[in-house]
Amino acid sequence: MECEVLICGAGIAGVSTAYHLTVRHGIKGVVLVDERPPLSLTSDKSTECYRNWWPGPDSTMVDFMNRSIDLLEGLALESGNIFHLNRRGYLYLTADPDQLDNFIQTAREPARLGAGALRIHNTDPSKFEYITSPPEGFRGMPDGADLFLDPELIRKYFPYVSNEVIAALHVRRAGWFSAQQLGMFMLDQARCHGTQVIEGKVTGIEIEGNRVRSTVIDDVEKIYAPIFVNAAGPFLKQIGELQNIDLPVYSELHLKVSVRDHQGAIPRHAPLLIWTDRQTLPWSAEEISILAEDPETRWLLDEMPAGVHTRPEGGGDSDIVLFLWEYHVNKVEPIFPPPLDEQYPEIALRGLMKMLPRLQAYLGRSPRPYLDGGYYTKTRENRPLIGPTQVEGSYVIGALSGFGLMASCAAGELLVNYITNSELPSYAPALSLNRYEDPNYLRLLENWEDSGQL
Ligand SMILES: Cc1cc2nc3c(=O)[nH]c(=O)nc-3n(C[C@H](O)[C@H](O)[C@H](O)COP(=O)(O)OP(=O)(O)OC[C@H]3O[C@@H](n4cnc5c(N)ncnc54)[C@H](O)[C@@H]3O)c2cc1C
Repeated sequence: MECEVLICGAGIAGVSTAYHLTVRHGIKGVVLVDERPPLSLTSDKSTECYRNWWPGPDSTMVDFMNRSIDLLEGLALESGNIFHLNRRGYLYLTADPDQLDNFIQTAREPARLGAGALRIHNTDPSKFEYITSPPEGFRGMPDGADLFLDPELIRKYFPYVSNEVIAALHVRRAGWFSAQQLGMFMLDQARCHGTQVIEGKVTGIEIEGNRVRSTVIDDVEKIYAPIFVNAAGPFLKQIGELQNIDLPVYSELHLKVSVRDHQGAIPRHAPLLIWTDRQTLPWSAEEISILAEDPETRWLLDEMPAGVHTRPEGGGDSDIVLFLWEYHVNKVEPIFPPPLDEQYPEIALRGLMKMLPRLQAYLGRSPRPYLDGGYYTKTRENRPLIGPTQVEGSYVIGALSGFGLMASCAAGELLVNYITNSELPSYAPALSLNRYEDPNYLRLLENWEDSGQL
């Protein structure tokens, strides 16, 4: 069998690549190979959120995400918003006076890098109008962010968060959508324009004179294609190794809880809510003495990291909410199904109680949670790898970490611009594999402070 482009991996990265090749560039002869059903390994485990609010040190991530959201909005308009893109925003919260300066400084950076204006709402009421986000739809909303430094205003607009909150940052070019429906929309379009989907495992890649020649499927079948795309998600490194390419990526396990909020502790119209303070978990005196006795559980009394977050999930008749908190992040070898930490739902619930006191109602009587998860496959600076490799005809699209859904449209577009020799956007070099050959970049990496990871 022969084709023009063979893509290994039908997750969101491979699907977006196929979409851009066939639908936007009219290339025939695209084959998408996956050993699993499309979009079923990592791309259906996500929180499905998006934002253009990214830290520096330069504007790469802001520019890249702005472009991706432009494309997402275009697809939403074209499809009658089949994937329910909303614009509820992300709400970052702090109750820690010692963190306040840092909270404000951190908020200034994405605004300076092009994510939109930062509107500060303090006790002076006349300065800016705050436009609330409707629960559905994405049009006609401001970008940038609204920074509330007046507790009265925080109480007025977000009455469900703790009275202790002293600052709230509402990021506006942000929200969520159905990842599965976005992926299926792009896949259906790609299929209609000639993409062929084949079930099978890529087990070998034949290279001749430093050029890709063919791909071996399930150890037996060979497909000849001059262009090979590695979109293997958590198996990016292994597929790189089949070509003697050492991709600088690793994986972290990230879990997610879905649970019923039948008491309505989190309003159905809420944005994504993120607690930015470190904290110690609330335990009773009896619990503290039990946890302290056992070396396996003593760590639960230590200070825990910032970043616990939640959002409502589903339409008007749903009462599901999602809880996420990476209190342990380790580099791991991806294994499937991923090992699940049974303590996670309880720990995430306790972590969220600081931000959302009404969740206390569920202590000891929480409805049965559903726990799942997947891997963030990432580079050390948490930027993706998109572009050619040192083997001619071989490309990579991956290391999409915790932002692969929101980045998928611009990532696929960028890779296809390389393949078709089209004009590249300004952010292309900073996301390419050969950035690691630039000594200036390596120096920059030594002092890289914030990866923007959630
Ligand atoms: C808990 C969690 C929350 C997240 N939240 C968000 C979020 O809110 N917003 C966001 O934008 N992103 C989020 N993400 C990240 C996002 O889900 C990923 O970045 C994205 O799904 C990665 O897509 P992918 O196509 O690179 O990988 P995958 O979806 O894993 O696809 C890779 C595909 O390659 C196939 N494959 C691998 N090896 C082979 C082989 N040898 N032969 C054939 N096929 C092969 C696999 O079967 C798989 O189907 C989250 C992730 C997790 C785990």
